[in-house]
Amino acid sequence: MPAKIQLFNEMHQELLRDESRNIGYAESVSFPETEEDILEILKYCRDKKLSLTVQGALTGLAAGAVPYGGHVVNLKRMNKVLAIDQIGEEFTLTCQPGLILSELRKAIELKHFNNPNFSEASRKALAAISKKGSYVFPPDPTEASASLGGMVACNASGARTYFFGATREHITRLRLILSDGRILDIKRGQVKANGLKLELPLTNGAVLKIDLPKYKMPATKNAAGYYVAADMDALDLFIGSDGTLGLIVEIDIKLQRAPEFTWGISTFWPDEKSAIDFVLAARQRIKNLTSLESFDYWALELLRQQREKGGIFSSLPFLPEDYAYCIYLELQGDEEAKLLTALNQIKSLMDESGGDSSKTWVALNDTELTRLLFFRHAVPESVNMLIDQRKRKYPDIAKLGTDMAVPDDRLVEIIEIYRRDLKEANLQAASWGHIGDNHIHVNILPRNSEDYQRGKELYLRWAKKVTEMQGTVSAEHGVGKSKANMLEIMYGSEHIEEMRRLKLSFDPWNLLSPGNLFAAKGGVGHAHSSDD
Ligand SMILES: Cc1cc2nc3c(=O)[nH]c(=O)nc-3n(C[C@H](O)[C@H](O)[C@H](O)COP(=O)(O)OP(=O)(O)OC[C@H]3O[C@@H](n4cnc5c(N)ncnc54)[C@H](O)[C@@H]3O)c2cc1C
Repeated sequence: MPAKIQLFNEMHQELLRDESRNIGYAESVSFPETEEDILEILKYCRDKKLSLTVQGALTGLAAGAVPYGGHVVNLKRMNKVLAIDQIGEEFTLTCQPGLILSELRKAIELKHFNNPNFSEASRKALAAISKKGSYVFPPDPTEASASLGGMVACNASGARTYFFGATREHITRLRLILSDGRILDIKRGQVKANGLKLELPLTNGAVLKIDLPKYKMPATKNAAGYYVAADMDALDLFIGSDGTLGLIVEIDIKLQRAPEFTWGISTFWPDEKSAIDFVLAARQRIKNLTSLESFDYWALELLRQQREKGGIFSSLPFLPEDYAYCIYLELQGDEEAKLLTALNQIKSLMDESGGDSSKTWVALNDTELTRLLFFRHAVPESVNMLIDQRKRKYPDIAKLGTDMAVPDDRLVEIIEIYRRDLKEANLQAASWGHIGDNHIHVNILPRNSEDYQRGKELYLRWAKKVTEMQGTVSAEHGVGKSKANMLEIMYGSEHIEEMRRLKLSFDPWNLLSPGNLFAAKGGVGHAHSSDD
């Protein structure tokens, strides 16, 4: 057994679950530090016919990194910035997948990448960026302890996706190791599909010929299934592939010049109707908006309860009872005057839409912004804590959070459907999320096993409804294992079979992430490869 491989034991328990609260099992584990380690581990798994689960930081919400047997490869030790490159005013970083988002942000902010092995070219680029203003990496999932590899594998996104797009838009190169040891290293713009036919150069000189599936992706924010489009950029196929096509070992990210000003505005509303009317108008009329987020009454109630309980959330600001709904907006720009105009527009729009512009919290500097982002992060954390509590009495229940999005003109309708169905099913829920992108996380809070069952049935009904509306069953968390049944609802069994064939073209041993995206079939073993 290669030195890097350890048999699974008590010490590794935390590697059996992610933030979906699903718990798995595994035979062995490894923490590779180099590509050579990974190649050795892959050979061991092929020889032993062991399936392989790839892990980043295990903050996933769809059980994608939860192992059900086989070997676990956890990439947390591959966490360095390997290089920095400059093209004109633009800078890109070459990163390892285990790099944690919060650490990456700190390094970018301080322009300190702590790598004595930087090449001459990287040292020159570092000197250049040090003389320039601030830069940022825009993707902002609220869970800053996510790894970059996990963000790419799930095409993660956050509040600022409303303006900057998801992780996909900020990736310029990927290096992947396939389950049979072949390596793919491609840049954005380097390889384009010809219609739905793709020819991918491998680093060993061979060419991988791929027939892309024929399904049409929804015109919404999307992280469900493989990114596929005629004449697409090949790089996009691997972003959002949920650990099924290869191990991502290097990621080039494009940095963005940081804006001079970032202001956060929390607006509070007496009811959902006036808040939604405001959102629809704000989308049309407010410029410089980088985020448009919502928190419903129950999400705010959870925060009130957590604040009263004390502990980590006791520093949350007081929420008056009549603050029944919150819409959070963010403005960014280099001209304060322009932002001031937009802020005044927001206030008058609030009054026009049945709100009261005095019921706002405005953050004009980083400290105040951090407080508002803490408020934002406290909601999903509060739900996780509540589920953990209820799980003690009902161990079978797990977090039930949707991640669905619909086209702009179906937002009001889908919210009415959520409300009506939750009432009819007598289920408790808290909702929040990226309302600017018609992407709200409805979190059913099961009180017992019956609630949990009813909740799961309701989600499948919503998955059908959202699919009818040309929407998606996963807009940012990925499908993983817990939403594979919804992916089949969204695309149908024929297209799922196309996805399965696509996976086998990259993973001829059917080794990688069994159960992610679609039910595992046929076990580990050399099936075929299209360039044989
Ligand atoms: C409180 C909370 C809030 C959250 N908020 C957001 C949010 O706002 N937006 C959002 O998008 N997500 C959010 N998430 C979900 C999660 O943080 C993201 O899905 C994140 O991208 C997962 O990264 P990870 O490193 O933890 O991945 P993991 O959970 O370790 O893995 C996720 C998937 O990626 C695959 N994977 C990981 N690394 C690699 C690699 N190097 N190569 C190939 N495949 C790999 C795994 O196999 C798995 O399928 C939240 C989670 C929590 C707990």
